Amino acid sequence: MNSSFIIRSAAYIAIFAVMLLCEWRVPFALSEQKKTHRVGFHLSLSIMNTFLLNIIISGTIFATLLYTQKHMFGLAYVLGLSGGAKIVTTIIVLDLWDYWMHLANHKIRFLWRFHKAHHSDMEMDVTTASRFHLGELLISNGVKCGMILLWGPSLWGLAVFDILITGCSQFHHANVNIPLNIQDGIEKIIVTPRMHRCHHSLHCNCFNTNYATILSCWDRLFKSYHWAEPRNELQPIGLYDPRGPHTMKFVPFLLTPLKD
Ligand SMILES: [Zn+2]
Repeated sequence: MNSSFIIRSAAYIAIFAVMLLCEWRVPFALSEQKKTHRVGFHLSLSIMNTFLLNIIISGTIFATLLYTQKHMFGLAYVLGLSGGAKIVTTIIVLDLWDYWMHLANHKIRFLWRFHKAHHSDMEMDVTTASRFHLGELLISNGVKCGMILLWGPSLWGLAVFDILITGCSQFHHANVNIPLNIQDGIEKIIVTPRMHRCHHSLHCNCFNTNYATILSCWDRLFKSYHWAEPRNELQPIGLYDPRGPHTMKFVPFLLTPLKD
């Protein structure tokens, strides 16, 4: 468990650094906020969330995983999956679960109270991928325990999924100006910055679209895909309310679920 945590942390830092470099060299949208402020706030939030998740729920996730392995419990065991096939199917199954979890975060009022903290960012860049309310992370990790029990993944299947979902999230939140023809090609398989920027856009055509995190096929399959017009539909970013600099301060951010 420790080695997979170290690998996940190293991947997070490496992708974060590469995306920061790309945002500096070829940004998609001009920023009005200080980059150092955005990096400082969102990294502090991420460190605090990781620390608390490790204390509160990581042990339960690991215990659930050990239980499924010891008793060969879960659908993956019923199907006789092992090795690489089990890792690949684990990524697909958990990514599909993540699609529905994200959709539920938007459709169920109670869940939206927490998820809107992520959407309250008025700009979007690689640091936005670290902007989550602890309440949302606790709920999604609690549901994830149920998914682990149902599916029965291997430790490495789960570790590879965690690395991919974090890396893909950092990539598609990044404020990088990748040529559209390249993004269209990438988007046939995974979610691109243009596709996810649409999810954060206030433009009416973008409401309730593009929920996928790793594989873009889920949005096409479940009819929530929207190809956004980059010049007109990808600005402004955020929520109608709250707007303003207080969205980058800890206390107002943590109190977001209490605001209607
Ligand atoms: Zn969302």
